[in-house]
Amino acid sequence: MQANMEDTYRHKGLRKQLVEGIRQKGIRDEAVLAAIEKIPRHFFMDSSFLEFAYQDKPFPIGSGQTISQPYTVAFQTELLQVKKGMKVLEIGTGSGYQASVLSEMGARVFSIERQRKLFQRTKEFMGRFRYPVKLFLGDGYLGLPTFAPFDRILITAAAPEIPQALLEQLKPNGILVIPHGKDDIQNMLQIMKQADGTIRSETHGTFRFVPLLGDLGND
Ligand code: SAM
Repeated sequence: MQANMEDTYRHKGLRKQLVEGIRQKGIRDEAVLAAIEKIPRHFFMDSSFLEFAYQDKPFPIGSGQTISQPYTVAFQTELLQVKKGMKVLEIGTGSGYQASVLSEMGARVFSIERQRKLFQRTKEFMGRFRYPVKLFLGDGYLGLPTFAPFDRILITAAAPEIPQALLEQLKPNGILVIPHGKDDIQNMLQIMKQADGTIRSETHGTFRFVPLLGDLGND
């Protein structure tokens, strides 16, 4: 994450190209595309990665973690069907980029990160950046019972199982998006909680995420 936050015409031009590429890959939600075009992704990466910030690729952000590929961010956000004013819980804050995209779209964002070092770095950065995202250090498997229920829940790491606590913290008519699977490649699930509380799930292709980590303490 950068100390010096400068967003030049060159950066803006590269972002426009990135958004066109993502659109060509099939993303249709204009609010998602507008958020990606607006947010300087290079702010969320180490300066040594600046020239990579506007390639459609994931990148290391320290602590063995990655900032997701922009297309993946767009895909998950589109599946989430976020509307202004919705309360959204993200599991896996990482760099804070995805949380910023949700916030730019008008969501009230709560995000949990499990790794202390990453949490502290991102909290410091987000304090200087423009979005009022609420960040928590903790185990995303447990969600945030104090702030539940949520209109939308987004998991940005691979989960071998769908955490029951998160399903419970989802509002009726809510949507939860999760990369689900035990192997290297996961199915992207869009899980809808019906008004009567029953669960319906759709699979939307396969993706490759770092795994959701279990117990706390590996800081
Ligand atoms: N959304 C992030 C961004 O915009 O930069 C990228 C997420 S990265 C692919 C996955 C993140 O999930 C990592 O930062 C990792 O430390 C975090 N994570 C893994 N297990 C977790 C858990 N149980 N609870 C909360 N966060 C977790």
